[in-house]
Amino acid sequence: MSSHDFDLITLGAGSGGVRASRLAAQAGKRVAVVEESRVGGTCVMRGCVPKKLLVYGAHFAQDLADCQGYGWDVEGVAFDWPRLIAAKNAELNRLEGVYQRILRDSGVTLIEGRGTLADAHTVMVGGRSHTADTILIATGGRPSLPDIPGIEHAITSNEALDLMQLPGRVVIVGGGYIAVEFAGIFNALGAAVVQVLRGDTVLRGFDQDIRAALAEEMVRAGIDLRTETQVQSIERNDHGYSLRLTGDETVEADLVLYATGRAPNTAGLGLERAGVALNGKGAVVVDEYSRTSVANIWAVGDVTDRVNLTPVAINEAVAFVRTAFLGMPAAMDYDAIPSAVFSQPPIATVGLTEAEACRRYGEIDVYLSRFKPMRNILAGRDERTMMKLLVDRASDRVVGLHMAGADAPEIVQGFAVALKCGATKAQFDATVGIHPTAAEELVTMRERRP
Ligand code: FAD
Ligand code: NDP
Repeated sequence: MSSHDFDLITLGAGSGGVRASRLAAQAGKRVAVVEESRVGGTCVMRGCVPKKLLVYGAHFAQDLADCQGYGWDVEGVAFDWPRLIAAKNAELNRLEGVYQRILRDSGVTLIEGRGTLADAHTVMVGGRSHTADTILIATGGRPSLPDIPGIEHAITSNEALDLMQLPGRVVIVGGGYIAVEFAGIFNALGAAVVQVLRGDTVLRGFDQDIRAALAEEMVRAGIDLRTETQVQSIERNDHGYSLRLTGDETVEADLVLYATGRAPNTAGLGLERAGVALNGKGAVVVDEYSRTSVANIWAVGDVTDRVNLTPVAINEAVAFVRTAFLGMPAAMDYDAIPSAVFSQPPIATVGLTEAEACRRYGEIDVYLSRFKPMRNILAGRDERTMMKLLVDRASDRVVGLHMAGADAPEIVQGFAVALKCGATKAQFDATVGIHPTAAEELVTMRERRP
């Protein structure tokens, strides 16, 4: 047996760290995980889960508006923000307990505190040293804000999930996942939302038609989208905050939320001391097996800044345990990772955008459908759904599938299997639809876009 205290010490009990620690312990390894905040990490405590609960909470505003077209009378209905936040917090406490129990039942030692590396085998926590044969860095990321005058007045998604009251006027800066999701939440719950983004529309990197469709629906829903605009300064005044924008416009707000990306949590970890190489953005550099430049130190999840999603961190963790402890080298497959943005309406996507498909395959066929879903007709809601398929003409394979509209994440998860299996357009066409659904459109699109 090794002279070290543990076979594995994991830094960070988030999505990747918990999965890796549990699996390694179940494989018979002596494992400790170090956590400086709450077990569960960003996704469970400050990300996916509380965000989705607020999205559900906000969506009832739309349901209440829509149900009147179906004969419901909903006068006198009121919304209580503190009650939603309290319910959300109770659920997070329950989940934290579940994750702690998972670690305990698997035999993982939880060490509470901030961990730093003293050398390649030694982790320091609160003045005590712990040694291990193998170390896994799974410390995730944190919000990254530009350095402009008054930035200290801005909050991030961390605080936005815990506001004591619902603000009346919100300015959200950024055009990515977090910005559009929070714009949808606050707007649906009745706040006046201005979203300021430097790009020409939301969600750089997504398919152009889907970006445009979402932006159109956000504006239709009442969000004031200020594109190609930057914030120059933020000042506090008697009524809240005043933001000076490019073009010398100003906008007033009760709350300023910055969602301008996230940075890997590597500062002050002692990684340089241990010889672990970082890239220009401060992310841990790893090979396809998640091994760093030091043979016994590995890293998974957002700290490596590959694809920053929870299921990716988890799959990287599984591959790490197989490679490092089970003698079955495994690398995460980054091809056709589905993802969703829980905007209102939500969008979901798997495979290539049209621009990427053109670059990779040259000749592609595009199938695009935009329609008012049946549910919206009696509801009197103008919101439209968009679906898009991209087909490699040479092989007939569907290489991209995109949707903006109600239930997009639930629908696209299923279709992601088809893309992963290399399904062709002919196989989509041969699949019988489920009627009446919105999803059946994905197997009944016949007209190529000219
Ligand atoms: P994390 O989950 O961030 O865990 C890292 C842990 O390490 C944290 O608990 C931290 O406290 C701890 N830590 C850091 N430094 C130290 C140290 N020195 N010592 C001890 N502990 C330390 N992804 C999705 O797939 N779907 C979504 O809907 C989604 N929504 C999101 C919404 C928001 C608002 C945010 C911010 C993120 C969202 N994400 C979503 C992304 C997702 O949360 C991350 O990709 C995922 O949590 C990454 O997991 P991880 O294990 O790499 O790190
Ligand atoms: P994103 O990278 O998605 O978006 C960042 C946004 O901020 C972009 O619009 C970017 O503009 C803009 N930006 C960056 N720097 C500046 C600046 N200095 N001034 C003005 N604007 C700036 O990051 P998020 O913070 O929204 O989310 C972080 C990550 O977390 C996501 O990328 C995703 O991986 C994950 N996440 C996943 C979710 C999900 O799966 N549903 C939900 C939430 C987060 P530009 O495009 O011009 O660079």
